[in-house]
This record gives sequence, structure tokens and C-alpha cells, in this order.
Amino acid sequence: MADRDGVIWYDGKLVPWREATTHVLTHSLHYGLAVFEGVRAYNTELGTAIFRLQDHTRRLFNSAHIYQMSIPFDQDTINAAQCEVVRANELESCYIRPLVFYGSEKMGVSPKGATVHVAIAAWPWGAYLGEEALKAGIRCKISSYARQHVNVTMPRAKVASTYANSILANAEALDHGYDEAILLDTEGFVAEGAGENLFIVKDGAIYEPEIASALTGITRATVHTLAADLGIAVHTRRLTRDDLYIADEAFFSGTAAEITPIREIDGRRIGAGQRGPVTERLQSAFFDVVNGRLPEYHHWLTRV
Ligand code: PMP
Repeated sequence: MADRDGVIWYDGKLVPWREATTHVLTHSLHYGLAVFEGVRAYNTELGTAIFRLQDHTRRLFNSAHIYQMSIPFDQDTINAAQCEVVRANELESCYIRPLVFYGSEKMGVSPKGATVHVAIAAWPWGAYLGEEALKAGIRCKISSYARQHVNVTMPRAKVASTYANSILANAEALDHGYDEAILLDTEGFVAEGAGENLFIVKDGAIYEPEIASALTGITRATVHTLAADLGIAVHTRRLTRDDLYIADEAFFSGTAAEITPIREIDGRRIGAGQRGPVTERLQSAFFDVVNGRLPEYHHWLTRV
């Protein structure tokens, strides 16, 4: 990722991609406290536009607030910077990664005295779980690792340290021949995917787990809106792993994963073992929205 052409926005300036570096004694590298976002720009009917940019930036600032990191820029600047990065790299559609981290002024658990830095990179990134996965669906494994308890790492924050937990779960799933992991909370109820929120469909209605231990996904919020438009009820309640086994359909939502059907969990076929009709309707509405084909959702698109 480091050796390529292009520019990265780094503390207020565009710098050549290869020069956007930091010292090995960077505090965040040692103690895992960095907050970040994953955002997508699509080549829409209106031109290249970032999907729900302001919502992502707000969550970034909330993540920083939770961890008492003081971002030395305001939200408007970070919004404009993301547009600038997409433009400067001449990207039509891409993934955008804003990252807020502590610098290398000091060691020790307390970051007090370390400078807060902001970097924003963007690069082309196709379907996170593969193009085929969007159609055929993926196979998931319930992880033997629990998602952190609500009082361990803060679930409302998109913080780097949470992803050590995601990496354990994802690696275990891949080692067992699955495509992605589903994590349960410390009480054994369904939390989320390693990098996605999860939904199931049963008797025509959508169910999602309470998001106590899960990230409040922006794609998840989009699913709520689109389901309401399509007249499909969404119920939020505690879900058990066997609720998933007997679901008619299951799917992930996420900026990277978009809407990805799940066709199998722990060796059990979900529904007909393929993308289900409710998932397909939502997925199709989602791609219409992000690609600017529905004027009523143009307010979610920020042209770069
Ligand atoms: N949960 C986790 C752990 C994630 O990493 C993500 C991706 N950011 C999500 C859920 C989905 O969030 P969003 O829809 O905002 O991308």
C-alpha cells in the first residue's frame, strides 16, 4: 500500500503518497489508540460523489471525543479534505480512509503530550468480500472470540484497537475455510461481523441484533431507511446464533461490504442457500442510492 503514486492529505497538506510516513515510536502504533473511518465515493449519475460524508465525519469526531483525542481541525475542514483527496488522485470511485492518531513525542500508556495527527488516503477498492459475494452470498463462521463487552473498548467509537479482536475472528474464520466471522457478545448474543453489521430476514420482516456491542453502522442506518421505503419492517432485538441458523435470509451491511448476502453459517444453509429476495431488493435499492439513481437521496451524496 505504501509504494504507489498519488497524494495523501496529512495534517492539512497534500503530500506525495510515499512520503506520508510516521516514526516507529508513534504512540498509536504501540498502544492501539487511533480512530478512523471507512468512507466510499461512487461514480454517480451526478459525477463522483462521497456517500454520507457528513455522517462519517461526525462519527469520526464522536470516536475522537469518546477517547478524548482533540482533532486539530473542524468537521468542515475534514469533509473538504476528503473531497480534495479524491479529486487530487483523480479517482472516479474509491474507498477513503481518514485516520486520527497520536504522534511519537512520548511513550507510556498516557498519550498526554503526544500530538494528534490526521491523515486521509483514498484508493480504488472494489467489493470488499469479492464481486461474486454480492450475488452468490458468503459463508460465515460464528467466532470463538467474543466481541468486546460494552465496557472494554467503546463500541460507539471506530477505534483501531477493536480491530485486533476483528482480526482474531476473521483469521479464525478464514483458517476454517469460511469467508468472514460473526462475533457474539460476552453474553452469547449476536453482535456483528468482523467489519460489518448483520441482519436476518424471517417471515418477510428484518431483524437485527441490539447494537450494544456493535458499531453503529452508517450502512445499517441506510438499510433502516430503505427498508421503510420498501415497506419492510425492521425489528431490533437480541438474537441468538440459532436465530441465524433458522433465518430465511441473512446479510451484512458496511461501507466496505456494502450489502453482502450470507448463504451459510457454521455449515448450515441459510434459507435457500443463496441471495434471498428481501436482500436482493435492499441491495438493489442501496446501489441505486449510492450511484445517484434516486433523486430523493441525493442529499446523501457530496460531489467532490
Ligand atoms: N461493524 C464494524 C466492526 C465495522 O468495522 C464496520 C465498518 N465500518 C461496520 C460495522 C459497518 O459500519 P458502516 O456501515 O458505517 O461502514
